[in-house]
Amino acid sequence: MPTLALVVPCFNEEEIIVSSLDILSDLLGRFIAQGKISETSFIVLVDDGSKDKTILLASQYKSSKVKILKLASNVGHQHALLAGLHFVTGKVDCCVSIDADLQDDIEVIAQMVDFYNAGAQIVYGIRDNREADSFFKKGTAVVFYQLMIKMGVPLVFNHADFRLLSNNVLIELQKYQEVNLFLRGLFPQMGFSSAQVFYSRRKRMAGESKYPFFKMLKLAVNGITSFTNYPLKIITALGSLIFGASILATMWILVVVLQGKNVPGWASITLPIYFLGGIQLLAIGILGEYISRIYLETKRRPLYHVEKIIE
Ligand code: UDP
Ligand code: MG
Repeated sequence: MPTLALVVPCFNEEEIIVSSLDILSDLLGRFIAQGKISETSFIVLVDDGSKDKTILLASQYKSSKVKILKLASNVGHQHALLAGLHFVTGKVDCCVSIDADLQDDIEVIAQMVDFYNAGAQIVYGIRDNREADSFFKKGTAVVFYQLMIKMGVPLVFNHADFRLLSNNVLIELQKYQEVNLFLRGLFPQMGFSSAQVFYSRRKRMAGESKYPFFKMLKLAVNGITSFTNYPLKIITALGSLIFGASILATMWILVVVLQGKNVPGWASITLPIYFLGGIQLLAIGILGEYISRIYLETKRRPLYHVEKIIE
């Protein structure tokens, strides 16, 4: 029987934290009673610098199965999750990461453990139904996933951060020190044997999504910049294309001038100025995204700080 840890990052989740802990403790108790996991299994709540009562409610929660890792500040979902994964490394046989709002179906954790027992090192939870998500969230998610997969980011379609990892994978994960962290791309490229379980995603029980559009966009940009330089190649291709077009335009001008006519227009001068100015700024912006990440990576600052551990 494997020892399992449930790793739950949470940020300002006072509305749901107690009921989530109830549900997860209940699940753990059930699995232990069924002999599916060992009695030493536990839940780790990573408090990502919440400003509300999350930490108070969690620390008052009476259960020997719940441990709390309180981070000193808000470092974002990916790094909070990483902190939790580092914390359980070496203490368990496998762990399952899951969001505190329990939008992901906890019942498939049983199948994840079965796959682990059968030899899978990573088991991906995959949403095969997004009906609970808003139209906007559904649309943007599809666009982001497709775009990233096209650009070569090693993503498992419709898989986010609900997954089982074996302790072997956790140990290997410690070798990654990157600031620009996009976990859902890291694991598929590690190459461990994996399996998939499917579920339908539910609505949030309460509270608001902590991933508004701009945070989602930032996550997507992080994903792209940390796995592929495709956007840089687009700049080069665009540059070549415009250069080619300018040679054609030069030939056209030559022909017009040789015919003894004037080259027409104000528009033929001003439009390219705006057009090229825009494209150049965009290209510089894309370069900037990569450079700012080089800057952050080279500083090698710690990815999170643990303020205290409540066991
Ligand atoms: N979260 C976090 N730090 C943050 C933002 C979010 O730890 O800075 C946690 C949050 O509490 C939740 C999970 O990350 O457990 C996913 O967030 P959310 O449910 O808001 O995202 P969505 O499901 O809307 O994509
Ligand atoms: Mg959620």
